[in-house]
Amino acid sequence: MDNQKNRPGFLPADIVRFVSPQVLQRASQYVQEKRVGKWILEGSAWKCRVEGRDIYEVILFSRDGKINGWDCSCPFEQEAICKHVAAAVLCFPGVTKE
Ligand SMILES: [Zn+2]
Repeated sequence: MDNQKNRPGFLPADIVRFVSPQVLQRASQYVQEKRVGKWILEGSAWKCRVEGRDIYEVILFSRDGKINGWDCSCPFEQEAICKHVAAAVLCFPGVTKE
């Protein structure tokens, strides 16, 4: 869980600032294709599965409505936000569009 460092945290809606337009586009597509599974809250960790080429487990840590940590089981460069995490953030339970 190396990614759970003291990150400043960002609001889910600010995901657009942290990923490239390409990643965001793929992530939106994942959401539309309903590839993001159900969220489970375990302690302070929100977990869900995202179906890409494989099924990956995404974990988000959230405090005060901000996301301050994430992890994904895919082999993508973990310092960056991968499309699975981006897709998960777009569906994060804290983000509801009324
Ligand atoms: Zn990933």
